Amino acid sequence: MLTSMKNILEDSHKHYYGVMAMNCVNIEMARAAIMAASEENSPIIIQIGPKQMKLHGHKEEMYPLVKDLAERVHVPVALNLDHGTDYDVIADCINTGFTNVMFDGSSLPFEENLQKTEIICQLAHMAGCSVEAELGHVGMAVDDDDENFDLFTNPEQAKDFVERTGVDCLAVAIGTAHGDYPKGRVPKLDFERLALLKKTLDMPLVLHGGSGTGEENIKKAVSLGINKINVATDVCTVAKKAMLDEVEKNPKIDYVSMCIAAEKSMKEYVKYYINLIGSNNRFNFGDVEYHGHE
Ligand SMILES: [Zn+2]
Repeated sequence: MLTSMKNILEDSHKHYYGVMAMNCVNIEMARAAIMAASEENSPIIIQIGPKQMKLHGHKEEMYPLVKDLAERVHVPVALNLDHGTDYDVIADCINTGFTNVMFDGSSLPFEENLQKTEIICQLAHMAGCSVEAELGHVGMAVDDDDENFDLFTNPEQAKDFVERTGVDCLAVAIGTAHGDYPKGRVPKLDFERLALLKKTLDMPLVLHGGSGTGEENIKKAVSLGINKINVATDVCTVAKKAMLDEVEKNPKIDYVSMCIAAEKSMKEYVKYYINLIGSNNRFNFGDVEYHGHE
């Protein structure tokens, strides 16, 4: 079912597990994610960014697609606008029926980020849509700025931000970055800061730049209170590899077979990821309570 992201994350916050948020721009991606989640009895978050909507997965097409797929499964599915910066785009997504919007004011001065986030929260909450904000700045992996501590989220400032905005979950900067890391480099995460953020805020926390972060880092981040992990690059890499492998095996392969191979590989990857972050068996069909394991 298509459901509020806030509800999904409140459960994962309470029970210390992570939920995968996968960027999807077409039917293969959305179906791979939702069907994998259904088979693993796991919640899932489908998300799409403004640039992705403009380039390929238009929201007018993605919304009914995700809604229809979500209605076919017994697990909760949320639809989130990833990295919204523009008020009109955010309002449009709320009107369309997205169940969460992210406002990314992380590059703005603190007070401006706070004021804009607060306005988005008022608007979204009135429509029953939840909000993710970002404080501190998760940069790009290519910029190699994961040791620039000035950009990391400050716990006391975050507390002030959350209290004054009423935001439902917060993306924190603790050392990950967006995109592919230079070959061989695994980011160093500031786990002490993460533990302090969780203790200070006592709310669902989000990790951006999940791709290439490494299994141990991800597991530890979840154990310390990360509840939503954004994965975009790694899924695209898996799909691309599956397509290229098929072409190598059979250069005469047709396009549909390539799409099927890509979807199959993404579905396997999502299942692997769900098990890595512990959201599997949270929604066993027939269970009265939806927590399969503690
Ligand atoms: Zn991000």
